Amino acid sequence: MSRFMRWIFRVFLFSLCCLILCSGGLLSPSRGSNPPVRRNVAATLAGHSEIQRYWLRRKDLIIRGKTIIGSKELEEIHRVQLDKGIRNLPIFATLLVRESLEASRRKAFEEAVALCKAAQKLAPGLSYGYFALARVYWSQAKHRLDWVLAEYVRGLVVSIKNFKYSFIWFTDFFYLSGQSILLAFFLFSFVLFLKYFPSLIESLARSFRAQVFQVILAIMKIVGILLPFFLQLNLIWAFLYWSLIFWVFMENRERFMLGFFLILIIYVPWAMDGCSHFLDHSASRLLHIYAANEETWDHDLKEDLIRRLQANSRDTNILFTLGLISKREGNYPKAKYYYKRVLSNNSSAADAMTNLANVYLAMGNVDEAIALNSKAIDMNPQKASFYFNLHRANSRKSSAPVKADSSIQRATELDPTLIHHYLKVESDNMNRFVIDETLSAMSLWKDGIYHLVGTWMDPRGLVSVLITPLSKRVRFVSPLLFLGMMVVFSIVAKRRGTVRKCPLCGSPSRRVFPRRIEGDFICLGCHRLFVKKEGLNPKIKIKKVAQVRKHRRREELISRILSLFSLGGGYVWRNYTVRGVVLLFVFSLFILRKVHWHGLIRNAEVVPASSPLSSEAFFIGLFAILYYVSLRGISRLERRKQAMEKVRISL
Ligand SMILES: [Zn+2]
Repeated sequence: MSRFMRWIFRVFLFSLCCLILCSGGLLSPSRGSNPPVRRNVAATLAGHSEIQRYWLRRKDLIIRGKTIIGSKELEEIHRVQLDKGIRNLPIFATLLVRESLEASRRKAFEEAVALCKAAQKLAPGLSYGYFALARVYWSQAKHRLDWVLAEYVRGLVVSIKNFKYSFIWFTDFFYLSGQSILLAFFLFSFVLFLKYFPSLIESLARSFRAQVFQVILAIMKIVGILLPFFLQLNLIWAFLYWSLIFWVFMENRERFMLGFFLILIIYVPWAMDGCSHFLDHSASRLLHIYAANEETWDHDLKEDLIRRLQANSRDTNILFTLGLISKREGNYPKAKYYYKRVLSNNSSAADAMTNLANVYLAMGNVDEAIALNSKAIDMNPQKASFYFNLHRANSRKSSAPVKADSSIQRATELDPTLIHHYLKVESDNMNRFVIDETLSAMSLWKDGIYHLVGTWMDPRGLVSVLITPLSKRVRFVSPLLFLGMMVVFSIVAKRRGTVRKCPLCGSPSRRVFPRRIEGDFICLGCHRLFVKKEGLNPKIKIKKVAQVRKHRRREELISRILSLFSLGGGYVWRNYTVRGVVLLFVFSLFILRKVHWHGLIRNAEVVPASSPLSSEAFFIGLFAILYYVSLRGISRLERRKQAMEKVRISL
């Protein structure tokens, strides 16, 4: 394989990894189990007696064999949904998807496809219907991969646009990568421990053979090694402490990497704590706002929003949402009241303005509706819905046909799909006659990030986390102390010189010689024998060569074993620190992803269908490929090193 092809392959593998890790959070095959669905169905049905009636009639007809999928009743359900202004009916779509997958198992593919299409109609903004259809196509005709992929991509686009999914995915990914960083550090310091612990023991053993003073010093050092147990540090900090003890033996890149990890292990848990706090206190608010805008709402949800509004009367997103719900329920004075409050807080909210115009139109105040819609268009001339609403307002006024025609044209130009949809479902019902804007995913994201950043800034600042005690018993052990240790050790190492293990023969020595090509340091003996090619005593020469061979075999074995167990450990062992740590991180990501296959954040709702691409077998296969590539990489490295060494040791 040429170098270029290898790179292409690597980039492909990397993007595939990203895809699978990202999509996994969204598309896990079964989030949760059956019971939550039943509870949710009961809760949702309670709020929609009309839909429930049609649903039960449909079920009854299917059981009696009068109809196969009950498309007439599904049409009725869709009509009620449009009348009530509900954008997505997640529970009914989920139930349809379940029926569809069951039909697909019975090989009744036509029925399955029809059910999926119905699910898409009831919940166009949710991914269930699309992924399920991809799966049905997959079982129906494996050779029509283009159909499968088209549905899959549509589902993916919908779930990226959907705030709830991207939010859950983001928090999932955030925790996953945070934990992976900690696990990667743990593995890294463990390899360092294996690498340098023998050197430490050796130097301690030497001290015991020397004078009394040095013996006492050595005993103090042993107590120092055991210090984390006395201080009751957690495992991460204990390993950082032990890694610091090896500071004098370490390569510069390893020291740099430890400094980098010090920053990460201070701030990653802190950031995760902030995120947990946010999830506990503010996330339900966001998800409720989302549900009321895009899905369904009930009495409890409304009560919750009103309660939150009392706590913060300037919360425009809640005001907007309450206005939207009130209008959909037909409570126009209440809707007008909420939208006016939004506009008094933020006079440039064009979406609230057009929604208020729709409320005025519903109340019969046509002039006010036209004026507000024109104002909204002035603020944002690129929104199709504003022109459409203006057209509707104009049509209610008996004498202004010319102006009305141009605005519908403009609306169709801007967003043909949306306008055609609304023209198709047109009726006198005010939820179908005009387009009510909902809060966009972007504004919900902004809201979320604002609150999340607020949590991170409050109450502990970025600095105070440095002096927070790490241990319950000894209050003063803080991350700042570790930073101090690093500085002190660096100075000591610089003054006394680094004790390096010779990469050729493995013996530790303070006086080392750089090698130009390999970029490492070797001991005096090796330098004289292999680089300068001095004529030494043949006995010493033979002994040294045997030592080099034995050491090389040992190193090879250890780095292979480490790579086998940790993907990247071998690289760290052979001083390829950066590459090794990156691979350790990827390894941790995979392991934790597998452990938390259903996502770290539990979604109460059941996602019944996943795409054919996100099965566990595929995930494991990808992991195996990654393993194979990394193992091959390390053995290629060994071969290259061997070849280079052979040139040097040609005696
Ligand atoms: Zn040597």
